[in-house]
Amino acid sequence: MIEIARVPALSDNYIWLAHDPVSGETAVVDPAQAEPVLAEAERRGWRITQIWNTHWHPDHTGGNAAIKAATGCVITGPAAEAARIPTLDRQVGEGDRATLGGIAAEVLEVPAHTAGHIAYHLPGEAAIFVGDTLFAMGCGRLFEGTAAQMFANMQRLAALPPETRVYCAHEYTLSNGRYAVTAEPDNEALLTRMAEVEAARAREEATVPTTIALERATNPFMRAASVEELAERRAAKDAFRG
Ligand code: ZN
Ligand code: FE
Repeated sequence: MIEIARVPALSDNYIWLAHDPVSGETAVVDPAQAEPVLAEAERRGWRITQIWNTHWHPDHTGGNAAIKAATGCVITGPAAEAARIPTLDRQVGEGDRATLGGIAAEVLEVPAHTAGHIAYHLPGEAAIFVGDTLFAMGCGRLFEGTAAQMFANMQRLAALPPETRVYCAHEYTLSNGRYAVTAEPDNEALLTRMAEVEAARAREEATVPTTIALERATNPFMRAASVEELAERRAAKDAFRG
């Protein structure tokens, strides 16, 4: 059974450490920075052997070089963005696998936030690392792709087993929720969740990971009925000041 640790970085990033206690391998997912990752691994006695990048943005790759220099780890990331992640050792795309000891991660291509964005799904662990594609009650901005692509991504992620834990790369939940309740004011599950999130954030607690089941019930982007509805909601969120 995999162990996953959360490392807060920058203003609102989460870097995830995925540790396989059997092999002793540890993968760092989307290291915004090196220092907090190296410190947490040291504190836990975890040996970093890999980095998994979901996309090229500097708040997901900024720690690559320094972590590799310190540990000699192997860096895996999206083939379609290899030119923008010069530290990559291994390029992957749809259907490829990354393995952490005996634990397999299947690579899903989920373009839209960036053109080559990937996610790492660990079906045997009921976990997925989604980078900036899916957030608690939100989705990534459409910097390099279309609403149609993001709609397809949301449908695909919604079809994963409902118990799947979703490891997002940012603590955006409160801001997403404030918009979400305007998109679906009559959604009781959403209103209940928002109250819980407000309380958790008031206590400075993290609200990630989430689950596919919770997103299916409360996420206005995953719940959008059409490409057009997702596009409208994404544009409204981009303009939302809550
Ligand atoms: Zn990003
Ligand atoms: Fe990001």
